[in-house]
Amino acid sequence: MDELVALCKRRGFIFQSNEVYGGLQGVYDFGPLGVELKNNLKNAWWESMVYENDDIEGLDSSILTNPLVLKYSGHESTFSDPMVDCKSCQKRFRADQVPPECKKEDLTEPRQFNLMFKTNVGPIDDGSSFAYLRPETAQQIFTNFKNVIDSTSKQIPFGIAQIGKAFRNEITPRNFIFRVREFEQMELEYFVKPGNDEQALDEWVQKRLNWWRDQGVPIEKIELYNVPTDELAHYSKKTVDLMYMFPHGLEELEGIANRTDFDLASHSKKQDELNITSNVEKNKHSNSKMAVQDKKGDWIVPYVIEPSAGVERGILAVLNEAFVEEDLGDGKTRIVLKLKPHLSPIKAAILPLKKNNEEIVTLSKEVKNSLQKLGLGRVILENTGNIGKGYRRHDEIGTPVCITVDFESIEDSTVTIRDRDSMDQVRVKISELTEIYKNKIK
Ligand code: ATP
Repeated sequence: MDELVALCKRRGFIFQSNEVYGGLQGVYDFGPLGVELKNNLKNAWWESMVYENDDIEGLDSSILTNPLVLKYSGHESTFSDPMVDCKSCQKRFRADQVPPECKKEDLTEPRQFNLMFKTNVGPIDDGSSFAYLRPETAQQIFTNFKNVIDSTSKQIPFGIAQIGKAFRNEITPRNFIFRVREFEQMELEYFVKPGNDEQALDEWVQKRLNWWRDQGVPIEKIELYNVPTDELAHYSKKTVDLMYMFPHGLEELEGIANRTDFDLASHSKKQDELNITSNVEKNKHSNSKMAVQDKKGDWIVPYVIEPSAGVERGILAVLNEAFVEEDLGDGKTRIVLKLKPHLSPIKAAILPLKKNNEEIVTLSKEVKNSLQKLGLGRVILENTGNIGKGYRRHDEIGTPVCITVDFESIEDSTVTIRDRDSMDQVRVKISELTEIYKNKIK
């Protein structure tokens, strides 16, 4: 973990947030390379959900959330963790995460601590008008259920996907970006006919494992954890957690839950007219009937399967898998990030051999522009004149190919293309570069 954290800071992937003022615990900033990596991971998820499935639509809902949404979702009453104080070190911990140095007799009785952040809304700052920062992206998917159905004519089974920020006032944020207070989630709510839910859950577990494999996290490295009944969230009939061996231990990367009809039923008006299977609070505020009619005209409240993944945890897993320290013989080593090319922050680096040679630099710019125009991600021209250093830097940040432009290039329109993983260098014609490049980074 220490090496990863150091690399992230050194190369500009991830920084401690608000660092110049001593930081703010549990929040991080993504630097120039981090933002590219993060966008690439989110795009890969979005493509696999929304673009590859005609039965899934996207959504981008607000972060500020009406407290009634989180009252009926059960978050106000249940979204809490048990907290204890240690009288000896004067620190506060989540009851299941007390460090071994704290003696049992020094700990207070656990009490519940709600993890939601509140903020004032409007010009009066007396607490009478507040909103929550959403603790998950899911709830606004449920509250938009009717809007999406009415505007897209979708019929079950269908899904709504969303990527966005979520906020949790974690008692003990830790392990770099693994447990933070501000993070992003990639959530799908997939609505199915009751009775088809169990099969749908199994299918989504498999699809999600395959997706993580395609991001460079092998299926063998993920353990499936069937959450025991007494640990299930209040809405869940079954939850399968994808557990990954992070640098600090085996922990949840993504959760796939069968949320039954709990959420739609909870947010629905006229609940008596619906055949609701879960135990929900009577809703006195909603103006929407969160149900669909079957061919006979009977109302059905769909069951929901929810694959919910954290972007930060995904990035940590992807970086952890990609990070390799390779022995090059003769006591030499290199650090290389063997990221899947579609995730690499920079797809290709163009390195002019001489930084002050106009012809070489002009040709390098042309090469850069022609590859950049393909729209496959960021291509940079790095005019430092130090090829060896360029290769080392781009190995460390996971750039799949480096392209060197030299004196020969001006004579015969060829360049050297170097592969990150094999370190092989091949001379190719510039006219063939586009095809070679496309094949390398796809
Ligand atoms: P944990 O048990 O680790 O606190 P959780 O079960 O509360 O996680 P969910 O509510 O299922 O998490 O959220 C779905 C996903 O969101 C998680 O699998 C994780 O990837 C991500 N996530 C949740 N809390 C955090 C956090 N504090 N920091 C970073 N990612 C998080």
